[in-house]
Amino acid sequence: MEAPHHEAPAVTLKITVNSPERMGELGRRLAKLLRPGDLVMLTGELGAGKTTLTRGLGEGLGVRGAVTSPTFVIARVHPPLGDGPSLVHVDAYRLGGGLDEMEDLDLDVSLPESVIVVEWGDGKVEELSDDRLRVVIDRTVGDTAGGATDDAADEVREVTVTGLGARWADADLASLSA
Ligand code: ADP
Ligand code: MG
Repeated sequence: MEAPHHEAPAVTLKITVNSPERMGELGRRLAKLLRPGDLVMLTGELGAGKTTLTRGLGEGLGVRGAVTSPTFVIARVHPPLGDGPSLVHVDAYRLGGGLDEMEDLDLDVSLPESVIVVEWGDGKVEELSDDRLRVVIDRTVGDTAGGATDDAADEVREVTVTGLGARWADADLASLSA
């Protein structure tokens, strides 16, 4: 008999990211934690910085091809330049709910040897894995009480990283804010 499934406690880290360059850095640090089979879900409004984070992640993993916003492409595979995993970058914006909608992508087939990063994947790709790294990017609205608009404040993002499942229970999320 298999042991009944228990939800592993979630580990969460909050980081303030002040610029696109810092978001790229966060992606590069995140890449160091990732291994084949990992699923990363990116949540945040348009322009939050999901693709910017993924670009840094691709640099950190050392994969081929530039990470861009896949406007017409739903998924792009970036093969490794070295020994690491491929990066599969999915933009699920136009996809309906459920994995069957994206069956053609065969994400379940590529997952074991890849890192899969999904933008707009909430409610769509959870069944791929119980172990997920959920990254929520919030555009903090600066205090505009004084009426001043501050370009620097426009670049501030609050990033909440949550590790779900046993895979992430002992992960060193603190290394992301180093
Ligand atoms: P998304 O994929 O979430 O729609 P993108 O990464 O494509 O967002 O775009 C984010 C935009 O916001 C870019 O133009 C980027 O330069 C800008 N930006 C400003 N500040 C930040 C920040 N702190 N982190 C990420 N992107 C930022
Ligand atoms: Mg994007």
